[in-house]
Amino acid sequence: MDIEARHVFQTEVDLKKAIRQNELTLLFQPKVNAKNNAIVGAEALVRWNHPERGLIPADQFIRIAEKSELIDEIGDWVLKQTCKILADWTKRKLPAVPISINISPKRFLKGDYPGLVRNVIRRWGIDPGLLEIEITETSLMENKTVVTDAIQQIRQLGIKFSLDDFGTGFSSINYLKQFRTIDTLKIDKSFIAKIDEDPQMSAIVKSFIMLAKGLDMEVIAEGVETAGQLKFLTDNDCPVVQGFIYSKPLFLSDFEVLLREGEIRPKIGSATDIMEN
Ligand code: C2E
Ligand code: MG
Ligand code: MG
Ligand code: MG
Repeated sequence: MDIEARHVFQTEVDLKKAIRQNELTLLFQPKVNAKNNAIVGAEALVRWNHPERGLIPADQFIRIAEKSELIDEIGDWVLKQTCKILADWTKRKLPAVPISINISPKRFLKGDYPGLVRNVIRRWGIDPGLLEIEITETSLMENKTVVTDAIQQIRQLGIKFSLDDFGTGFSSINYLKQFRTIDTLKIDKSFIAKIDEDPQMSAIVKSFIMLAKGLDMEVIAEGVETAGQLKFLTDNDCPVVQGFIYSKPLFLSDFEVLLREGEIRPKIGSATDIMEN
């Protein structure tokens, strides 16, 4: 085996063990309405809490997990864990906000996914309006009918869908309109990173915002880091944002402190200040 193949294989073996040994954990990054700094939701982001290597970022194992069945196990764990947390917030009378989870394309093609989601929601007795699913554009385009069917069944339960990393994939605009499968467009951070300095990028982002409005969808910007980006987005009718300017992804207990406060102030400063905090 070459070095790369060996690394993939070893990561798969370790990851399988990690799932059994409960080494996965979720961080929560707030979604904020910049008009009043209100926390309007959160995205659950998975981390691997490795006994020796510490907290491993999603990018370092999700892509490998996606090559095998492991990604489905991770996704199902994230679904259950998130519903459990939502039920706990209700029990403790915390002012719950919707949590979005990232679900990999392939999951919709296997078994009865809508049935699983329905069962998990019932098992924890949660309000389906508090759960959202983020999917990427490629998952929509491949196996269109099967995926669309699954999404429609899950939407009928009252769960909303976002199109993650919007702009980086191959979405057919006509497709979005035709099936009304998606509630929210989530503009990818690679576009947001350049709206301050690149007039073409800002034109593209404006057109994404208008597209969402025109199709009667919500819109959110991810990866917002600077005051300039935040101003551009609020000025152009996209006040709901997620990014380091407000907060990095947080441990559950830290996110719950924010949840009780209900709002959060932007950290005004350069992107590097924010990253180092
Ligand atoms: P994503 O779903 O697009 O998540 C947003 C990523 O952007 C997160 O990285 C988040 O930490 C990062 N981010 C947030 N604000 C900023 C910012 O202001 N600047 C910059 N530069 N980055 C920001 P993370 O947590 O490392 O996750 C990376 C990707 O891994 C996610 O992208 C998602 O595609 C995948 N992922 C994470 N958790 C899960 C999961 O539970 N299941 C699956 N299937 N994929 C996941
Ligand atoms: Mg996401
Ligand atoms: Mg994204
Ligand atoms: Mg991404």
